[in-house]
Amino acid sequence: MTALIIILLFVIGACLGSFFNVLIDRIPRHQSILRPASHCTECGKPIPFSQNIPIISYIILKGRCKSCGAKIHWHHLVVEIITPVLFIALYLVYGLSFSFFKFAIMTGFLIPIFFIDAFHKIIPLVLSIPLAITGLLLGLIQTDFNFYDFFMVFFLPVVILFAFLYLLALLWLKLFHREGLGGGDVILIPAVGAFFGIIHIPWVILFACILGLLYFLIFVRKPNQGFAFGNIIALASYVWTLIGDKFLQAIGWFHLS
Ligand SMILES: [Zn+2]
Repeated sequence: MTALIIILLFVIGACLGSFFNVLIDRIPRHQSILRPASHCTECGKPIPFSQNIPIISYIILKGRCKSCGAKIHWHHLVVEIITPVLFIALYLVYGLSFSFFKFAIMTGFLIPIFFIDAFHKIIPLVLSIPLAITGLLLGLIQTDFNFYDFFMVFFLPVVILFAFLYLLALLWLKLFHREGLGGGDVILIPAVGAFFGIIHIPWVILFACILGLLYFLIFVRKPNQGFAFGNIIALASYVWTLIGDKFLQAIGWFHLS
């Protein structure tokens, strides 16, 4: 049964990855994600279904358009592989539980956000706002529509976090006359917070800050050079879904899921 579910998750994940590639290509260009159908961005020739099979087509065509030979960006292959892998890892941690579906949905938003932020240094509102709304709706379901619990565990922490980050970003801009925390991050952090709830929120942020600091010390090192923190938040949030509960249990903290 487990093997069957893993195979199924691989197929679904690869197909979703193919869809995420469309989002990664088109959202920053403000193009429709539905029309036109898949086509080569160089020659404009439509890509038939037979050449659009996730992972397999990229390998058979050696990452090139069959009509004009233009290179297809490597993110197409990477996203089609990592999407199912990330889903399967979630399944191995949570089984087919509510938490699995919840965090798989979060991951489904974070993958395109990660690549769009990496390539364009933007976190599109068309992804981050639906991410926040979905997280809150799932929180409502998780608390069995007990509005008091939902308000205390999910809604209030998310609103306070947003207000705090918004004021922090404003203050930074006033004091230093440049952007400290990007506008996209101000929404992305509370949006993932909506999936984690009050217990995990401080830990996810702390984890993201540690990863961000390591990234800065290893790869950036120039104090005035900014870097896309959205990537780090996305990465930290996903990794935390795998290790968060175990970590909190290990240090004797109580846990939610
Ligand atoms: Zn082409």
